[in-house]
Amino acid sequence: MSLFALVDGNNFYASCERVFRPDLAGQPIVVLSNNDGCVVAASAEAKALGFKMFGPFFEIAGLCRRHGVRVFSSNYTLYGDMSRRMMAVLAQHAPGQEVYSIDECFLDLAGAPDADALAWRMREDVWRRIGIPVSVGIGASKTLAKLANHVAKRVEGWDDGVFDWRWLAPDEADALMSRLPVGKVWGVGPRLAAKLMENGIDNALGLKLADPGWLKRRFSVTLERTAAELNGISCLSLEETAQPRQQIIASRSFGEKTSDFPVLAAAISHHIARAGEKLREQRGAARLVGVSARTSPFGDDPYHGYTVVPLAQPSDDTIELTRAALSGLRDIYRRGLRYQKAGVVLMELSPRSRTQADLFSAAPDPRRERLMRAMDAINREYGHSCVKLASEALTPNWDMRQDQRSPCYSTRFDQLPLARADS
Ligand SMILES: [Mg+2]
Repeated sequence: MSLFALVDGNNFYASCERVFRPDLAGQPIVVLSNNDGCVVAASAEAKALGFKMFGPFFEIAGLCRRHGVRVFSSNYTLYGDMSRRMMAVLAQHAPGQEVYSIDECFLDLAGAPDADALAWRMREDVWRRIGIPVSVGIGASKTLAKLANHVAKRVEGWDDGVFDWRWLAPDEADALMSRLPVGKVWGVGPRLAAKLMENGIDNALGLKLADPGWLKRRFSVTLERTAAELNGISCLSLEETAQPRQQIIASRSFGEKTSDFPVLAAAISHHIARAGEKLREQRGAARLVGVSARTSPFGDDPYHGYTVVPLAQPSDDTIELTRAALSGLRDIYRRGLRYQKAGVVLMELSPRSRTQADLFSAAPDPRRERLMRAMDAINREYGHSCVKLASEALTPNWDMRQDQRSPCYSTRFDQLPLARADS
């Protein structure tokens, strides 16, 4: 008999901000997107005040001041590291784990002697060791576990942080499912939910009881499988190894628009450095480097420059990739425009071991490979961009606007939290 848990950090980004700031317990918090543009996360207290996710920040700035809401720029270094720590603790509790997103993982609980006791224990353990509150949903399929997690967080009467479908008799479970909108089912996005509602299926129970053949004909095999999973038939297993990415994208808006070539070049170099790290992490090599730079599509001079630069042979070497990207940037750069965003994309990725040597160009220098490995190791240890190419460092001030970012407490020696013994 299969049994899955879906563990999810509650208001994850806001919770991360609190780990090193216990004075913020119980305070409303919102976290802003890159460039401080809109709200991407809110604590329960802020949600209770009516803050909507993904609303533009300027609309609510006044409201934040009036209610004393603490506003943070997003600190993905902190969130990423807290995620890594939380996942490591959870992995100790189950034989199998699929990290599904920055704050969610599936765990394989089949064969656990007392899954409910385990769920409470995991919750306690993450809270005690990491300081992040989590919710746990348990069910016979991944889809049921995911829906149980929603119940554990949001359905009145069941929102204590752990919910297990097996607590309910079949008719009680159906009654509860009839209260959950079909859009809350894993894999049913807003568009599909709207289509299902046109066909009279507006809650999870409706989907569970729908005719499988009809679901497959009218919609897809995937939806047929989702319905089977709602019936407790497990069709999806844990995907413990992340699939290698087909392409790697790195791009970002500028804090302030710029027409300066050196600033664009520094940004492109930075993006290549990040993308190169990811590429080497998945042991891939890229054959094509795409470069883009654009102005505001709503401004007077809408311009989107994009070009693809092929490499002589697939490479994972940041120096090679940067050289290609900067030559692409020179091609698309138009003087006098004010650029808002620049980015790179690495394409035609192949496993590094399988790359073919080009007969007409020199074999890659093995010392360069060691150099990349050393750079990655140093940057992992001492923080991103600790070691970088000069092209990235020439113009440091292109980076995004993040006026209110918290320190990287857990990843930077110079930003460690200080404990002070007041006399
Ligand atoms: Mg969450």
